[in-house]
Amino acid sequence: MSEAAKIAKVDADSALGAMTGKRYIKSLKDGREVFIDGEKVADVTKHPAFTGIINEMARLYDLQNSDEYKDEMTFVDPDSGVRSSVSWMVPKSADDLKKKRRNSEIWNQQTWGQLGRSHDILAPYIIGALNRKDLFSEVKHPKCDFGENLENYYNYCMKNDLFLTHALGDPQVDRSETAQNEQQKSQEDLEVALHVVEETADGVIVTGGKQLSTAATHANECYISLSATFARRNDPNCVLAFSIPQNTPGLKALAREPNSRWFGTWGHPLQNLDEQDCILFFDNALIPWERLFMLYDPSPMAKILGAGGGSVNFNFLGWANLCRAQERMKLITAVATMVAESIGVIQYREVASKLGELVTYCHVWEHAMEGVEHEAIESPSGQWSLGHARGLHIWFAQVSGRMLEILREICAAGITMQPSEKDLANPDIRQYLDKYMRGKDCDVEYKSRLFRLAHDLAASSFGIRQDIYEYWHGGDPSRNRINLLKGYDQSEIMDRIKDLVSRPLPHGVEK
Ligand SMILES: Cc1cc2nc3c(=O)[nH]c(=O)nc-3n(C[C@H](O)[C@H](O)[C@H](O)COP(=O)(O)OP(=O)(O)OC[C@H]3O[C@@H](n4cnc5c(N)ncnc54)[C@H](O)[C@@H]3O)c2cc1C
Repeated sequence: MSEAAKIAKVDADSALGAMTGKRYIKSLKDGREVFIDGEKVADVTKHPAFTGIINEMARLYDLQNSDEYKDEMTFVDPDSGVRSSVSWMVPKSADDLKKKRRNSEIWNQQTWGQLGRSHDILAPYIIGALNRKDLFSEVKHPKCDFGENLENYYNYCMKNDLFLTHALGDPQVDRSETAQNEQQKSQEDLEVALHVVEETADGVIVTGGKQLSTAATHANECYISLSATFARRNDPNCVLAFSIPQNTPGLKALAREPNSRWFGTWGHPLQNLDEQDCILFFDNALIPWERLFMLYDPSPMAKILGAGGGSVNFNFLGWANLCRAQERMKLITAVATMVAESIGVIQYREVASKLGELVTYCHVWEHAMEGVEHEAIESPSGQWSLGHARGLHIWFAQVSGRMLEILREICAAGITMQPSEKDLANPDIRQYLDKYMRGKDCDVEYKSRLFRLAHDLAASSFGIRQDIYEYWHGGDPSRNRINLLKGYDQSEIMDRIKDLVSRPLPHGVEK
């Protein structure tokens, strides 16, 4: 049996329960191939580009096992008796959904709404797919039952509380051609997309790239599938969905430059939340049969996407992204308000009005979250799902940039010109800092720390990456908006409009 098949099998029967910080860090010392800035990383848990985020994740895992949070963040699986993260709990009632909401709130409050790939992002993907296990089983293959694979995989992840990321899109090599004329592409271009090279007794051998995968540096496993853009492929060899450990032989991840390299104690308050992004290269990697969920035939995904990404059929986003956006909005609004207070500009009508605009976004989001919860329904499988939130996610992709723009406008030059920790410690200049860099009713230390937080959010390479993330992570917003339009039933009002424009007004004025 090959290495990859062994890796997947070794842990298949394990049930280690809710992840702890120590176990998480140990789990990443698995020989995974990660490259950064021209070098292969010997141990991701020791590399300065990754230790911040890895230690943050470990802290959260310890938190979920603490007496204070255990009941809110973990649950006992009724079938196996295993205690695991609430992220992996299949919601069977409206109360379960509430419990999941609280778990997501804690994860996001603890990480200030900055983690696009928190632990709770991919678990709902797998749970949502499990809800339509039947669709995956409809596609037949002599070597496995894809629906059964999904269920076994869910159980494995839940019982071991694994942290997953995903990769859906093709490398950004040549977007000029569409599925309709894919045949016209050169063989070299076609091979860029992840595809099956051959089948073996153990599984399928795949080669090709995937762009992007956030957190591939420090996730346990990566779920690979097709984004909505690439779901309708001509070449069946490119139709694949599977999940594999990050240390699968033949899988290499190239991480981008780190966004925070300031190692002071408070220079960049959000520096530990740089969650990294990777492009993945598969070079003849073996995907074991038991890890495949879709092969050659995209109909399960087409049916799921056709039924609406956030609908009861496939609620692959759950609470995590909603709670993350809520926390991020509240953070931007509060920092902007505190900055305005710290330099005495909150009294100005224009400034207060901009802050009020930020509050409108927070309010809309809070109301929408209540609505999504209110519209929760039970699916035929007995799984509970939130109401769909497709429009919400697109809306946030649009307003996130506007919120940061307002923060920058209120900070003005202060967002860049602040003393560093070492400047403050230098007695030769400290007297000037105390006098010229203090704020209204606040000292220079408080003011510079606050403005540095604003800088991290809206002006640093970290902040800009977060903004880019907001815009693109849910897929191309243009495509999403078009899909929203296609699925939006306007027939009732259109009929009334047709009626209005097709006859004289009942009480029309005679000329
Ligand atoms: C920070 C960050 C993190 C991410 N993390 C993940 C992750 O963890 N997992 C994951 O799977 N994905 C992730 N993504 C990828 C994300 O889903 C994609 O960025 C998004 O789907 C857009 O694809 P692309 O970047 O390849 O852009 P492209 O498709 O190359 O688009 C480039 C430009 O061309 C336009 N364009 C492209 N095709 C067409 C067309 N046919 N017609 C008209 N215009 C077109 C686009 O609108 C855009 O302006 C992440 C992205 C970012 C930025």
